[in-house]
Amino acid sequence: MIAENINTINSKIRACEKKCNKIIGSTKLVAVSKRKNANLILEAHNCGQVFFGENYLQEAIKKVSELPSSIKWHFIGNLQSNKVKKAVASFDVIETVDKLRLAQAIDKQVCSLNKNVSFLIQVNIGDEIQKSGIAPEKAEGLLKEIIETTSLKASGIMVIPPYSPQPEASRPFFIRAKKLTDELAKKELFFNNESVELSMGMSSDYIQAIEEGATIVRVGTAIFGKRD
Ligand SMILES: *Cc1c(COP(=O)(O)O)cnc(C)c1O
Repeated sequence: MIAENINTINSKIRACEKKCNKIIGSTKLVAVSKRKNANLILEAHNCGQVFFGENYLQEAIKKVSELPSSIKWHFIGNLQSNKVKKAVASFDVIETVDKLRLAQAIDKQVCSLNKNVSFLIQVNIGDEIQKSGIAPEKAEGLLKEIIETTSLKASGIMVIPPYSPQPEASRPFFIRAKKLTDELAKKELFFNNESVELSMGMSSDYIQAIEEGATIVRVGTAIFGKRD
């Protein structure tokens, strides 16, 4: 079941890349495995899935310790500064940096643990009060402060558009995120401004996301089924 789902999603992604004249294989599929047990993750990994996304640190740390080191882990949940040490130790990418304090804490741990981690800035692209992420108009200031006060640079942007059962409802937010990312890259505020990561799109709207410029899609339900 999981193997079949992953194959279907990969075929759809490859077809979309082809249609949009992107390099085939350039979109990274992150399998979101929150609240799914280690056996299911291993099953997915055994059919070639490399990147996994987790939201809850305690849950994730246990899985990371049980599973092969060939898995690359993306942290996609809310991160508190006092948990950054654990996050840096276990994860390869932290997608949810939205405060200077977090970037500074990551910088400190990267130095003291001597472990590499890349990170994305989470932008609240729908200006939703209840959602984390920095306001779009404040992203530039945050990226500049990170460059000025740490030894790190963000690799890109991550967004979660307002929830809608209609995939097309996400498209304007994806377009807005891509435009913002391009503007910030032009100002050379990222680690690699020729190749900036843009993480957007989930089970229902990852095709729309890739069409609008996603380089990373985060897909849970469509791979592992519904979560309880
Ligand atoms: C849970 C989650 C996903 C995956 O959502 P699905 O609809 O199950 O694909 C993606 N991104 C974030 C930030 C999530 O929390």
